[in-house]
Amino acid sequence: MSQVRTRFAPSPTGFIHLGNIRSALYPWAYARATGGTFVLRIEDTDVERSSQEAVDVILESMQWLGLDHDEGPFYQMQRMDRYKEVLARMVEQGLVYRCYMSMAELDALRERQMASKEKPRYDGTWRPEPGKVLPPVPEGVAPVLRFRTPQGGSVVWDDKVKGRIEISNDELDDLVIARPDGTPTYNFCVVVDDIDMKITHVIRGDDHVNNTPRQIHIFRALGEEPPVYAHLPTVLNEQGEKMSKRHGAKAVTQYRDEGYPADAVVNYLARLGWSHGDDEIFSRQQLIEWFNLDHLGRSAGQFDEAKLRWVSAQH
Ligand code: GLU
Repeated sequence: MSQVRTRFAPSPTGFIHLGNIRSALYPWAYARATGGTFVLRIEDTDVERSSQEAVDVILESMQWLGLDHDEGPFYQMQRMDRYKEVLARMVEQGLVYRCYMSMAELDALRERQMASKEKPRYDGTWRPEPGKVLPPVPEGVAPVLRFRTPQGGSVVWDDKVKGRIEISNDELDDLVIARPDGTPTYNFCVVVDDIDMKITHVIRGDDHVNNTPRQIHIFRALGEEPPVYAHLPTVLNEQGEKMSKRHGAKAVTQYRDEGYPADAVVNYLARLGWSHGDDEIFSRQQLIEWFNLDHLGRSAGQFDEAKLRWVSAQH
């Protein structure tokens, strides 16, 4: 098998809590356990919400926990030329097409579909097919680029956490991969990056499961095999809600400031969604020796500060 390459790909939009940093811990541990490479990629295309301060906090949090990266940080905003180059190639190869449907038309379509209890989806008006006559190109409308999702069949992958997942292609409409101003959209950038950075294992939060079938199609259209996926369940707070700043989660660096040992936090977080028999307390070295993707838990881990204190006392 080729060398393992994993990545952490945060969006630097402000705040990083223990649940977020666990999505860095696992790909880091897996790279270290296999003698692989851990890549850091900053997904900063949401220009309004991204900031350098947020990047600095991510770097500081990773550094405190010893989650050292081998390559990067790569910034998506610095890779725009590359995305545009791939887009141009896809246009040339007919893998994408120009869609001139306006927002108002899309809204009207959605309303009609909802009224007849259909699932709202793009209807393929501008999708070229042999023998099909497309509508006349409207003047002064900049098109989006849509990806030609294969019709019929399904996408299947063996998720390292969730098991086999199969999504029918009928569920997926033709995804917009470039906006009217030519800028690429999220799912497309992720795939180009994962290809260019030769990522073999994508370990990320399960809020991205719905993106995965779309991303797999883009990989294949570009002639690449998709990586192995492991979608991690969310970390819950002590009240059983999704951990978030809004629900009172503390920043990673606050645990540092409160004097928690970094190795204890790494131990605690690792154990929150992964197990090695009954071992509760382990060193960083043991984690690196033991870590694998076969014992990632399927259910959401619940944060418990008292337990973190207990783990800290053992370190
Ligand atoms: N940037 C995404 C996030 O912060 C992660 C995307 C990915 O891992 O593919 O949720």
